[in-house]
Amino acid sequence: MKVYDRTPLNLDRMVIPHGRVYLIPERCKGCNICIRFCPMQVLQESKGQNAKGYHYPEIVEGKEDACVHCQFCMIVCPEFAIYTDAGEGSTP
Ligand code: SF4
Ligand code: SF4
Repeated sequence: MKVYDRTPLNLDRMVIPHGRVYLIPERCKGCNICIRFCPMQVLQESKGQNAKGYHYPEIVEGKEDACVHCQFCMIVCPEFAIYTDAGEGSTP
């Protein structure tokens, strides 16, 4: 099957959102669901532990500006421990 590729006509007007990630480490239970669901691979398990001994997520080094504010991590977190807001510098 032939696959056709085309560039969107409005590509120059598309804005790529940028998000800031916030974490409440004490709520985290180390399930790693947010890490697995992040489409940009922004998150990884940290070496740090909260009071319950769970390893909470952290931002991957070099990916500090990679979050696209899709909010998947926030939606899937069962403990409401992670969320994002719209950061500055969304790229047109
Ligand atoms: S908002 Fe989306 S891109 Fe940003 S850390 Fe969460 S899942 Fe990843
Ligand atoms: S989904 Fe929530 S509870 Fe699970 S590792 Fe991520 S922040 Fe922690």
